[in-house]
Amino acid sequence: MGAICGESSPGQATIAPVADCLFCKIVAGDVPADKVAESDRIIAFRDINPQAPTHVLIIPKDHYPDLAALAGSDGALLTEIAVEAGRVADAEGVADNGYRVVFNTGPEAGQTVFHVHAHVLGGRRLEWPPG
Ligand code: AMP
Ligand code: ZN
Repeated sequence: MGAICGESSPGQATIAPVADCLFCKIVAGDVPADKVAESDRIIAFRDINPQAPTHVLIIPKDHYPDLAALAGSDGALLTEIAVEAGRVADAEGVADNGYRVVFNTGPEAGQTVFHVHAHVLGGRRLEWPPG
């Protein structure tokens, strides 16, 4: 995890971006993203390889490698991500039928980008247990 900076810029991460982190590059604007929502602290954007009719990723602008690291450091930021997941589901019209919020954590669970992100999936029947 990057060092914590002393000051924050409006709309920017307050933790130094991590080199070679894809989602830090999206936060910096160096990699494009199909954004659906943004605040000072989070961005929601469409997954480039959607697994359901609605597949949106929600990330903090600050780099935390996974859910446990985020939860241990900034519970309010985790709550903002959870609230945004509900807003995305409403905006996408999947809230009534149901949707899933997933934090893949670690390689065996399928995490490929080690900048914490919530997947918001909906618009089709989602099987349980997951594969
Ligand atoms: P995970 O496998 O849980 O780490 O999720 C990473 C997600 O990021 C995958 O679902 C990818 O399809 C998605 N992804 C990778 N590159 C991009 C990108 N440039 N823009 C949007 N989503 C991406
Ligand atoms: Zn990052």
